[in-house]
Amino acid sequence: MAGTNALVRAINVSKAFHGNEVLRGIDLDVTTGEVVCLLGPSGSGKTTFLRRINQLETIDGGRIFVDGELLGLTQRAGRLHRLSDKQIAAQRAEIGMVFQRFNLFPHMTALRNVMEAPVQVKGVKKADAESTARELLERVGLGDRCDHYPAQLSGGQQQRVAIARALAMKPKLMLFDEPTSALDPELVGEVLDVMRELADEGMTMIVVTHEVEFAREVADTVVFMDAGVVVETGACAEVIDNPQHQRTRTFLRRIL
Ligand code: ADP
Repeated sequence: MAGTNALVRAINVSKAFHGNEVLRGIDLDVTTGEVVCLLGPSGSGKTTFLRRINQLETIDGGRIFVDGELLGLTQRAGRLHRLSDKQIAAQRAEIGMVFQRFNLFPHMTALRNVMEAPVQVKGVKKADAESTARELLERVGLGDRCDHYPAQLSGGQQQRVAIARALAMKPKLMLFDEPTSALDPELVGEVLDVMRELADEGMTMIVVTHEVEFAREVADTVVFMDAGVVVETGACAEVIDNPQHQRTRTFLRRIL
């Protein structure tokens, strides 16, 4: 994108489910290396927006660019056409996503879970994928759990495997959808620590979270969404510590 260093640019994104408008004109720019935390009440459209960036949802209106590339669409003869499934898969391979539920393959060890996509999707040689997977599991503190199956790991460990699995694709961007909300409280910290390290290393991240303290510490930008719109955007010192809108104040009072 000429004249801008936005890695993600969402313009006027809208989405309805059966006439229920869930996203109503979302604009968002995320620069390379930026950490954006999305806060907002349940049902405000945060997950739908993340899933849209990762093309797990179709779009009704607006455009999303990642690294200058329009997602899901291409222009031919002055008209927009949907990309092929293969082209969409190629765009998705550049974006890592970590879900609330860890979604690991239950019949594969931690190591195999992390190796699978690079081998199957990118055609990386098994030996190379394995050494990268070992490094990544080491990096998330699970170097000694490579041969464990998901059922043998705690929720926090499974979520760290899920982060390693997303990183194995060498994504340009990481999306986190409430990655700690399914965890027992004592396991939240170990996952947030891994995310904090990633942020420190310069990964571009969009994180849907209710962990306000984490947002305060790690986010460059906080976006408060409600009822499908961005209500306010700014640094933590603005949005969390000095919110301008009543809706933001009400939400924060409820969760802090
Ligand atoms: P949040 O992440 O902020 O909690 P969501 O994006 O999950 O919000 O949901 C926004 C709204 O969209 C909710 O009212 C939800 O019920 C609705 N919704 C989400 N996914 C679907 C779907 N696949 N079909 C119908 N409604 C959906």
